[in-house]
Amino acid sequence: MEKPWLAQYPPEIPGTLTYEDIPLQEYLRRSARDYPDKTAIHFMGKEMSFTELFEASCKFAAYLQDLGIQKGDRVAIMLPNMPASVISYFGILMAGGIVVQTNPLYTERELEYQMKDSGAKAIISLDILFPRITKVKAQTDLEHIVVTAIKDFLPFPKNFLYPFIQKKQYGVIVNVQHEGNNHLLKEILKQPQKSLADYKINAEEDLALLQYTGGTTGFPKGVMLTHRNLVANAAMCDAWLYNSKPGKEVVLGILPFFHVYGMTTVLVLSVMNGQKMVLLPKFDPETTLKTIQKQRPTMFPGAPTIYIGLLNHPDIKKYDLSSIEACISGSAPLPVEVQQKFEEVTGGKLVEGYGLTESSPVTHSNFLWGKERVQGSIGVPYPDTDAAVVSVGTGEPLPPGEIGEIIIKGPQVMKGYWNRQEDTDEVLRDGWLYTGDLGYMDEAGYFYIVDRKKDMIIAGGFNIYPREIEEVLYEHPAVQEAVAAGIPDPYRGETVKAYIVLKEGKTVTEKEMDEFARKHLAAYKVPRYYEFRDELPKTAVGKILRRALVDEENAKNNND
Ligand code: AMP
Repeated sequence: MEKPWLAQYPPEIPGTLTYEDIPLQEYLRRSARDYPDKTAIHFMGKEMSFTELFEASCKFAAYLQDLGIQKGDRVAIMLPNMPASVISYFGILMAGGIVVQTNPLYTERELEYQMKDSGAKAIISLDILFPRITKVKAQTDLEHIVVTAIKDFLPFPKNFLYPFIQKKQYGVIVNVQHEGNNHLLKEILKQPQKSLADYKINAEEDLALLQYTGGTTGFPKGVMLTHRNLVANAAMCDAWLYNSKPGKEVVLGILPFFHVYGMTTVLVLSVMNGQKMVLLPKFDPETTLKTIQKQRPTMFPGAPTIYIGLLNHPDIKKYDLSSIEACISGSAPLPVEVQQKFEEVTGGKLVEGYGLTESSPVTHSNFLWGKERVQGSIGVPYPDTDAAVVSVGTGEPLPPGEIGEIIIKGPQVMKGYWNRQEDTDEVLRDGWLYTGDLGYMDEAGYFYIVDRKKDMIIAGGFNIYPREIEEVLYEHPAVQEAVAAGIPDPYRGETVKAYIVLKEGKTVTEKEMDEFARKHLAAYKVPRYYEFRDELPKTAVGKILRRALVDEENAKNNND
């Protein structure tokens, strides 16, 4: 197979890498050995060194083993980014378990589904989420609940004040006691270290993670990621950062660790390289800007809505963001305007990459150093990663420039979906992962995403790609966020509707938007309807949920 993208690689990045035959948790043991006193985590004013992180993870691992957790048992983490989420992650792996990441925003129904599907035996979560978990526990295999609290990881006096803030936010203070099968992480971490049984891990076969996906497009499925998958993807990301300074970089961790993107590019990569992670439990533009100014992170992986949110903060120019050197945007298309403005404001690089849960996640990226990025492109495949574009109808490979489904092969591609052989067989064929994304490759080997196969709109027989419309809408100076979707239409089958959030203080009429769109788009692509909203539904990493808008529209039509 021809790999034209290899000709683009700067000499510092080899086209092929060697992957160590180690379990993922080995990275933490090594960083504790090589950078014992260095800060591993900064969380709201309090720091934890690599030694402290390693010791806490070992204690937690031994406790889990005492509870009966054995090799291959699933253990869920339902936490925002905080020291406890890192301790839990490595603790579960050291105990021989498989991490099941769970979104703290899940409702009882979603949580019950995921616990049943994964068969998790224990869960680590927050005090305020405890009532929700106890309600679903009886219907699942959950035996143990380990509870932690944000206040336990805050410096004085924030730790005393935090419960009052929580009371204001949630209306209650939940005080969980250690009794029966309910355990407290803070007590576990105070106990002396107990001996830890060592399991033999076969990195290529054994799972490190069950990462649920499909929430935006269908029923969530557990993606089985092996130790090798994650070690390989972290090594590839690291090769891309070839002029990073091991142990010196500071990484801003806003992307949630319960999503694969933040998990690999912040959590695993930082621990692997002995880098400090500055963690924020949720994204808020003002807190993020203040944190960047004070903690001076050098790397900042994010999603387009995060960068847009920061750029739209009225005082962004007052903050010193000059520490930022390298940002990678993924999970959704990065509007060119956002890329340019963010680079202007920070002086750092913002390049677009691409990936999906099924590939641990990163498969493509623009180069951070040594080469100019290609705007509008997701870049070229990572080392050892093959990519091709095939016809959706015939499955035949397509020449450069032609749009088809992007397929991927590489050591980061999942083992399959947990307990779903049929779904696995549908997306994994001859070792190739069928991504469900439509795109093309240019002659030089750069890839471009056009849209998701499922999101393509067919209006009056024309294929319309929402992304193209959104790029145009984003160019309008009053638009902060925009999404285009296909809604049912009695004559055209589907027609285009645009949902728009305006920048603060801006007003635009539907007629003005229509005139603007007509200037830049062929008539059949111009949205027929506009809806202005205060906000758009988003996933945990900030990807706009186009599907939720279409479902709303369908529900409205069914009720009419
Ligand atoms: P997830 O499994 O939640 O990480 O979602 C993966 C999906 O996000 C991919 O299949 C793409 O549809 C989308 N995606 C990721 N990165 C990009 C990007 N740079 N541009 C467009 N879509 C993207």
